[in-house]
Formats: sequence, C-alpha cells, structure tokens
Amino acid sequence: MSYEIDGVVYVVSLRQDRVYVRADLAGEDARKTLLHEMCHVATGCTGHSQEFIRELRRLGTLGERWANHEADVFSQPQAPLTRDDLLERMEEMAASPKPPAWAAARQHLAEEAGLSLLQFDRAHPELQRHWHQLLGCHQPSG
Ligand SMILES: [Zn+2]
Repeated sequence: MSYEIDGVVYVVSLRQDRVYVRADLAGEDARKTLLHEMCHVATGCTGHSQEFIRELRRLGTLGERWANHEADVFSQPQAPLTRDDLLERMEEMAASPKPPAWAAARQHLAEEAGLSLLQFDRAHPELQRHWHQLLGCHQPSG
C-alpha cells in the first residue's frame, strides 16, 4: 500500500484515493489536516515537494493563512534525503495506480533530494534499473 504518514496519525493513500485521519481529530485540526492531505492527493505526491508547496500556497490565497505558514516551513532547506528515503519514495510511486515513467519519477526524486538531474544521475546511477525492477513487481495481478 502506498501511503504517507505525517507524524503518526495522518495517512494519505494515493493508491486508494483515500485520506485517513485519527478518529478523535476534530474541529479546526481535522479541517486543516484534511486540507493538507488533500494537497497530497491533488498533486499526486506523497512528499512535500515544490508542487505540494505550491498547492499549499494556493490554499493560502483562498484565505487559509495556516497553509502559507506550512508552506514557509516546508520551503526551508531540509536535510538531504538518504538513499533509503529515495528507495522508499520509489516504492511508493511504483505502487501508485499509475506509476510515472522513469523520466518523471527521476525528476520528482531529484527535486525531493534537492539535486539537479545531472547530480542525481551521478549520485544514484543504479536507481533507473531499480525503478524498472519495482514496476515489474507491481504489475496488476488481475
Ligand atoms: Zn504531508
């Protein structure tokens, strides 16, 4: 199953197009959490990518001031993704209903890793082959 967990309790499953939240979440917290997770669904992105941040900022222009604040936080430089992080992201993308072609997956991973495409290829030359292996393992079973 493809999902992201923010903290421990908020889960978005891009594969199932569903958002799960803790049952006792209520009021403003529930509303903001659902909007946050819907940004993941809208962008088809499990991470807090530039595309995701743009979607948060779009909410901000609609009056959701907290979304602008979150966008600011996610725009701060992050610790670089480790190889394990990248492999996890790849598995999530490969398990989505419509896995992207390698070119799109590579661009997404490079962006999340904060690398240019050239830097990404140099740092992770083996990942393209791994991507195709992952897709081979995720063919619909019928
Ligand atoms: Zn999130």
